[in-house]
Amino acid sequence: MIGLMSARMIALPRRTPIGQAALEACDLSVELGGRTILDHVDAVVRAGEVLALVGPNGAGKSTLLGALSGDIPSTGVVRLDGRELGEWPLGEQARARAVLTQNNSLAFPFTVLEVIEMGRAPWRRTPREAEDEAAVAEAMARTETSTFSARIFPSLSGGESARVSLARVLAQRTGVLLLDEPTAALDIRHQEEVLGIARERAQSGDAVVIVLHDLNLAAAYADRIALLEHGTVTAAGAPSDVLTAERLSRVYRYPVDVIEHPRTRQPLVLPRRGAGSSLNSREESA
Ligand code: ADP
Ligand code: MG
Repeated sequence: MIGLMSARMIALPRRTPIGQAALEACDLSVELGGRTILDHVDAVVRAGEVLALVGPNGAGKSTLLGALSGDIPSTGVVRLDGRELGEWPLGEQARARAVLTQNNSLAFPFTVLEVIEMGRAPWRRTPREAEDEAAVAEAMARTETSTFSARIFPSLSGGESARVSLARVLAQRTGVLLLDEPTAALDIRHQEEVLGIARERAQSGDAVVIVLHDLNLAAAYADRIALLEHGTVTAAGAPSDVLTAERLSRVYRYPVDVIEHPRTRQPLVLPRRGAGSSLNSREESA
């Protein structure tokens, strides 16, 4: 009886209707150590879409993700499902959005299964606790982590632990997913799998923000791309509008060509190699 009453008192998040802003940043700035890391950034991800954050090392992608999740203090406004982050009790936030950070070390030797089960903690004593087993099993199947569920997390390879950390976040079954470089340590098949999962979640009405270095993954799987440079969003929109050779060569300070994929028509970004690349030009002029 008491369990039933407390279950009733815990607010379950509503799902943001497809097409509406699930997570929105307005005029976001972050200063750390006396430096401006994010400079008046606007960003939005709608329910039903994948937004990719790209940009050179140090551009501010992780900081933006951290500010969107409320983990990094910022000025400006972040709204989760239309409500300012500050108005969300932390427990409710954890049932509305899940965050995969870039650094997922764990101090204690938990098993893989235990790590993934941690994703279910926000749902304890709610009616959706009943989904725990199914959510964990689905997350493990989707990330191909079931075969090593009894292993100790710190003993895993970089790619294996990245997939377990992703499984934990997937098991949380939130309407908003924030993923910081989930593919960085993965082989080509697992990279495609992860982006496939992101697309599936968007297809089912979730909002997904994903930091990626591979511009071709972003082009193939994201609905929209935000390109960051020195703490600002220098371009945002459809992949074919954002990923132009001139812009990428300037922002990444390395010459690239952008061609159209012969079958999918998506942009393909190719760093210039051999004759014509900046490295060779430098050698030639030396
Ligand atoms: P990205 O994820 O795009 O590679 P980050 O958002 O991690 O970039 O970092 C953006 C910039 O902010 C970098 O120059 C980084 O060194 C700096 N930075 C990040 N965290 C801090 C901090 N706690 N104190 C000072 N500078 C920081
Ligand atoms: Mg980063």
